[in-house]
Amino acid sequence: MTNDEEWEQRCTGSPPLSGSALIAAADGEADEATLAHLQACPACAARVMHLRALQAYLLRRLYRLHCPSTDTLVDYCQGLLDPRVTAGVSHHLAICPYCAAEVKLLEDGPILAHAVGRRRRTLASNL
Ligand SMILES: [Zn+2]
Ligand SMILES: [Zn+2]
Repeated sequence: MTNDEEWEQRCTGSPPLSGSALIAAADGEADEATLAHLQACPACAARVMHLRALQAYLLRRLYRLHCPSTDTLVDYCQGLLDPRVTAGVSHHLAICPYCAAEVKLLEDGPILAHAVGRRRRTLASNL
């Protein structure tokens, strides 16, 4: 990818899109003027795609940074955690697709199939 200056020179729109407009567009929050610009300007459209990929990558990193460890998730599935910790993990699972998927794998897995009671399954399906 090119650096910012090169990108600004390649922008064919006028006025050129600001950095914050680009970031808004990457977030899916572009206004109409920005959307019109992106349709007419391949340089900025490519830039938005790049930002989106970067955001997805950072988000994934961020998610995993705050994620409970696999050990904690295993204990969670088995109902071994302190109620306060369990509540925290439940909350995390509601917002973190990665851990939610991991818990689902754990609960569906043969290792925990016996350990995980009906109560835990009901709880998980309500998340
Ligand atoms: Zn442009
Ligand atoms: Zn997580």
